[in-house]
Formats: sequence, C-alpha cells, structure tokens
Amino acid sequence: MSKIAHYLQEHLSGEVITSNDARKYFSTDGGVFELMPEIVVYPKDEGDVRKAARFTWQLAERGRVMPITARGKGSDQAGAALGSGIMLVFPAHMNKLIEYDGRTGNVVIEPGIIYAKLQQALHTHGRFLPPYPSSIEFSTLGGAIANNAAGEKTVKYGATRDYIRSLRVVLANGEVIETKRLTKRELSKKMGLSNFEGEIYRNLDKLFDDNKDLIEKINLEVTKNSAGYDIVDVKEKKTFDLTPLVVGSQGTLGIVTEATVSTEPYNSQTSLIAAYFDDISVAKDAVLELRKLPEMPSALEMVDKNLLDFIDEHNPNQLKGIVSKPYHKLIVLIEFDNNNDRLRKKMVKRAIKILNKHGAEYQLETKEANKEKLWKIRHSAAAVITHTEGNKKALPIVEDGIVPVDKFTEYINGVYEIFDRNKLKIALWGHAGNANIHMQPFLDLSQVGDRQKVFRIIDEYYNLVISLGGSTSGEHSDGRLRAPYLSKLYGEEVYGLFKKIKHIFDPYGTLNPGVKIDVGVEDIKPLLRHEYSMEHLYDHLPRT
Ligand SMILES: Cc1cc2nc3c(=O)[nH]c(=O)nc-3n(C[C@H](O)[C@H](O)[C@H](O)COP(=O)(O)OP(=O)(O)OC[C@H]3O[C@@H](n4cnc5c(N)ncnc54)[C@H](O)[C@@H]3O)c2cc1C
Repeated sequence: MSKIAHYLQEHLSGEVITSNDARKYFSTDGGVFELMPEIVVYPKDEGDVRKAARFTWQLAERGRVMPITARGKGSDQAGAALGSGIMLVFPAHMNKLIEYDGRTGNVVIEPGIIYAKLQQALHTHGRFLPPYPSSIEFSTLGGAIANNAAGEKTVKYGATRDYIRSLRVVLANGEVIETKRLTKRELSKKMGLSNFEGEIYRNLDKLFDDNKDLIEKINLEVTKNSAGYDIVDVKEKKTFDLTPLVVGSQGTLGIVTEATVSTEPYNSQTSLIAAYFDDISVAKDAVLELRKLPEMPSALEMVDKNLLDFIDEHNPNQLKGIVSKPYHKLIVLIEFDNNNDRLRKKMVKRAIKILNKHGAEYQLETKEANKEKLWKIRHSAAAVITHTEGNKKALPIVEDGIVPVDKFTEYINGVYEIFDRNKLKIALWGHAGNANIHMQPFLDLSQVGDRQKVFRIIDEYYNLVISLGGSTSGEHSDGRLRAPYLSKLYGEEVYGLFKKIKHIFDPYGTLNPGVKIDVGVEDIKPLLRHEYSMEHLYDHLPRT
C-alpha cells in the first residue's frame, strides 16, 4: 500500500482500499473509457471528504497532483466517473435521506442515496422528483446533481438544476461551503471572507461583471442543456448563486456532500396517447403544437421504425399485440398528468385535435394496464443497449445530442445519413418534446476498424448537432467523451470563461481532471476500452 493510502487510512473513518479487484471495478463506468484509480475510498461522512480534499491540496502544493473523483453508481456514459487518483465512492455510507419537510416538500439528502429509493420515499408523501433519469434504479442523486440529469418528465417539469435549492460542497482545499441564492448583502459578506470561499466569490463576481455582455449573448436555443458550466443563472440582477454552477459540473468544481432538493406533487392520474407518424416533419409540426398547449404534456417521448424493426428481429414477442405492422416511421407517446380530470380530458381533446389536423393515427389509453403496455414501446429501447452480437456492443458514444425542437427533422435525417455513410443501421429513441434523441451503434472495440469508426462517428455527429444550433448534451453532460467539443459548441470566448471558472475553483487541477475542461480528442483516444460491458449495472435491467 502506498504512503498516500496509508495516510488516508490513518486519518479517515471510512475504508481505504487499494486492492486490484476494487481498482479494476472502478476503472470503468457506463461509458466506453477505462482509467484505473490508485486508491478507492468509501467516505463515512463529510469530514472524510474534507480530509481527502485537503490532503490532495497539500500534495499539489508540493507539486504532486493526485486527482480526486467523486462517484455515485458509475452509470455515467461519458467517462466522467473515472479518475486515476483517489476515487470517493458515495453510495456505501453517505446515502441517507436526512430530512423531509412536509410543509415545503423539500428533502435534504446525502449524495450517495439511490434515486429510486428517494423517489419511493417521496411517493409515500404524495410527491416526486420529476427529472429522474431512466437509470433511476442504478444511479444516485449525487450523480444526477453532478450531471444535471433529466428524463421523460423534463419536457414539462425541467431538469435537475431546477430542483436544487442549496448544496453543501467540499472545495478543492477541503473547506466546506453552503451554496444558495444570496442577496447582494449576503454576497458582500461572502466576498469579505479571508478564506478560499471568499477568494472564490471575489474572483467570480469580478469575472461575471467583466464578462456580462458575453454571458448575456449565450443563446443555445435548446430546451435543456447539460454541456459546459451553467454561467447564465449565477448572477442575476439582485442575487448571486453558485448552485447552478456546481450542478452539472461533474465534480470538477467541488464535491457535493449534501443537497436540499425541492419536489412536486405526484400526479398519479394520467392519460396516454400513442401517435403514429409516417413523416418526420409532420411529427415535428405536431410536437411543436403540442408544446404550445396551455398545459405541457408530462411526457413527449418517441421511438423510430428502426427500433421496432430491431425488436421484431431479436424478440418478436416483446411488442406483440402492442404495435402492429407495417411499422410507422415514428411513434410519439404523449402523456398528460393533471390530477384534475376535467383539465386533463380537455388537454387530451386538444392534443387529439392536433393529431387529427396532421393526419396522424393515434390510440388513447387511460386504464393502467393499457398505459403500461404502451409505455413498453418506449422502454423497449433497453433491448438495444443490452443486446450483443458477438463482440459488437451498443456503444454510448453519440447518445445525448439535443437540437432546437424546430430542427428535429434535420437532426433525425442527419443522423440517418451519418450512419448510412458509416454502413451501420441505427435505432433512435428519446425525448421528442425536447428533440433530445438517444442512440447506441453496434461496434466491436476489439477491432481497429471499429475503433476508428468510433471517433469518426463522434466527430460527424457532434458537428451535426452543433451545426443545427443544438447542444452536445441534453442530459448526460460532457464527461471525457464530449469535452473535446465544448469550445466549438460555445465558441472560444465562452470556453475561455469556463477555463477561468475551473481555475478559480481548482487552481491545482485536482478535481476530476480530464473531465469537461482542457480535453482534446487525442487525450481520450488512449482511454478507449478494448471491450465494452455494463457489468456493474446489471443489478437491474438497464432502461434507457
Ligand atoms: C442505461 C442508462 C440510461 C441512462 N439514462 C439517463 C437519463 O435518462 N437521463 C440522464 O440524465 N442520464 C442518464 N444516464 C446517465 C447516468 O445514469 C445519469 O446521469 C445518472 O444521474 C448518474 O448517476 P450515478 O450515480 O451513476 O453517477 P456517476 O456515474 O457515479 O457519476 C456521474 C458524475 O457525477 C459526479 N459525482 C457523483 N457524485 C458526486 C458528488 N457527490 N459530488 C460531485 N460530483 C459527483 C461524478 O464524478 C461524475 O462526474 C443513463 C445511463 C445509463 C447507463
């Protein structure tokens, strides 16, 4: 065991492990990269996180950079939950629901709590946390906060960022801060502090003032975005809040040890419509109109014909009696969840009027069992990601691009063209209401040709998304995979700001380096795995 591991063992309450098994287990996440940590730590409490951070800071002051990476369940699909130094694994001990406030519906949680466990607890109070990812069963709140995760309900309810009221964050030097929206007076007080927290507030306030015009010009017209740092929501006219910056920062600015999260009343009464389209641009027009209804659908999800063909070929019974042939080009699921029957029925009526206007066939279901059947159409995408053809696996390399909703047709056609050019068939599914589409092409990472294809497809795909005014990540964030495209997405000036923010929080580069900032394609190429599997996520059938 190294001197560093010894030191940590001596000073932390949680376990410190350097066995090859543990290091190997944590050398992969849900993505296509591999990077072995030196030391695995299971922090018992915030004190442990602080000590680990303080220690890496002191090492860095003496010239040795030991990366520190926070980890939830490692379901990240872009290599953000990997690091070569100390891996802080939160689900082991720091996994509690600390408090539920029945008056506000807010919860206070530790980052390692499994999302589904929190959701279950909230349901018993008639509430829920809407932006849950489809990896809800095998991911943590800490991971969702760090990725600004989103999901099928985001079209109506927003992303994780919209629900985080405040955070406790351990800084690079081991100090702990509490973020929340501050008044001008509170901000002045913070800026007057003589510690690292004060330095951060002073530097950031100046940076935001000096770059006000540049920040105001940031205008990605997507309906959700997890790429880069959210610098738009930090400084408002009379308030200042670090929370939006930390949410979605993937452990590169600080380590979250506690979060206060708001929730919504859970509407169990839903109506579900499956709409069938043979023309993508007609589907897009319908989606644009559905988005304009007085009440936004609580889900606007889609699958394409290639996905149905895939299911038909590999498991013809899966959608038997649910979808009939010939398959339509696109199926869109439209859900309304207002508990008020009258209002819900009114929205359904208006949605059907829109579908009729566009000549789309549809099926309306209100009975639980029938709705469940329809949802199987969307959830059948799991069959793609769990399928293998010899060494060919469904790789998450282009799985999260988003474009302005009115560019939906160009996006889908562009994707089909990329995969045609690369002689691959691609199945699409995802969030039609946000124009955020998921896909995972089948490639064999043991083959040189396919490894080259990975980077060719990545390049063609992210350039397509950027050229359509979209974002490289709607919900999974940049990690290592998409980091090389951040400067192109935002432009050099805004990217320069991201770099300055990173430097203010993390001057020695100890916090999850190699993620988000200062990453080129050449940096990630050597990390590409030679085989892909989701073995550590198979406790539950991965849904997507
Ligand atoms: C099949 C499948 C489906 C998915 N579907 C979705 C989806 O619908 N929507 C979506 O948004 N994502 C989805 N994901 C991606 C991922 O599951 C989610 O983003 C999830 O929220 C990550 O949680 P985790 O606990 O696995 O985090 P990890 O993978 O462990 O970590 C993710 C990031 O969070 C950081 N992190 C973790 N804990 C902390 C902490 N305490 N402090 C600071 N940083 C921290 C890590 O360093 C890393 O950068 C999917 C993944 C898979 C494999």
